[in-house]
This record gives sequence, C-alpha cells and structure tokens, in this order.
Amino acid sequence: MEFSSKLLENAVYEVSQLPGIGKRTALRLVLHLLRQPEAQTKNLALALQNLRSEIKFCKKCHNISDTELCEICANPKRETSLVCVVEDIRDVMAIENTGQYRGVYHVLGGKISPMDGIGPSDLNIATLIEKAKAGEIKEIIFALSSTMEGDTTNFYIFKQLEPYAVITSTIARGIAVGDELEYADEVTLGRSILNRIPFENSLKSEQ
Ligand SMILES: [Zn+2]
Repeated sequence: MEFSSKLLENAVYEVSQLPGIGKRTALRLVLHLLRQPEAQTKNLALALQNLRSEIKFCKKCHNISDTELCEICANPKRETSLVCVVEDIRDVMAIENTGQYRGVYHVLGGKISPMDGIGPSDLNIATLIEKAKAGEIKEIIFALSSTMEGDTTNFYIFKQLEPYAVITSTIARGIAVGDELEYADEVTLGRSILNRIPFENSLKSEQ
C-alpha cells in the first residue's frame, strides 16, 4: 500500500495491529476518524491512554477494576467462600448478567495452552491455590470453556487442590463443547451454574 502521507501510514499501521483488522479496514477507519470532528479522535486517544495507564487488576480476583478491590469482591453480600474460576473479564460479565450467581470470581487471565507457550505459571493459578491453602474457599466452580485447553486447565487446578478440603464443581454442560462462555445465552448459563455437577463426575463422563 502506497501512502501519500507518513502520518497516515503510521496511523493505518497502528490500527492494523488490532486483531481481525487488515490494512484496508485500518485505512477505512483512519479516514473515517479524519472526517469526524477533531475532538472525537482526541477523546478516543485519551480513553485508550487512560485505560492503559490507570487500569488496575483486583488484588483478590484479578478482574479488571478501577479500584484495588473490584466491586464484586468489595460487596459484603457476596459469598466469598464460593469461587468461580473463569478465563477473563468477559466470562465474569456473562455470568453476572445471569443474575444467578452470588459468589466471587477468580480470573485466570487465560488457559493453559502448550501450543501457544502458555503454562500454569503464566496464569493467576498460584494465588487461587494460596486462597485454598488458607482455608478461604469452600467450593470452586470451574467455568472455563469446554475446549481442550479449558479441560487441561481445570484438571491441572483440580490436581493442585487435592491436598485441601475444597469442593470442586463444574458448570453443567448445557453449553455445547467448544462454545465460548461469553456467547452462551443468559438462561442456559444461569441454569448451568445452578445445576453444576461435581468435577469428578465430569471426568468420568468423558472416559
Ligand atoms: Zn475482585
């Protein structure tokens, strides 16, 4: 792609670094921004800048938050001994939308995936085990998507939890295998949390 302006080329390059955005789409978006009032582009740039410089991760559950403790962990009405293990904030949002869950979360920040070079130490697993060790957790609900990486991660954590008196359960598979949690409809997802099954049972049914 030949550009008449270095400034335009730089902007297109940066936008094209986003997932799913090719050079052509990036050019279309950048030209769109140029046609908008200057303030709009400045607001966009500022919002992204603030996001990166001011965002925090909840020190308890690792969810994205504006404060040290996220709103869920800081809510005294939540049952802190019931912990739902999820991949990222999108899963937290999906489960919160069901209105069926009163426990707290633990956000792993990904799934174990040897193919992508992601091992247990790259994820927020150690802090979860620490909480179990400290006796802070009564039950852990695995709510990772039912992909091979999700199953591997569940099993790894399950094994790590063995020395501690923690009940482990998994959301019922009303959700089709391979479906990402964030796309499950609220009713199905809400029901699958209420009808969760012991984690051991999910292992037996797969053999
Ligand atoms: Zn939190």
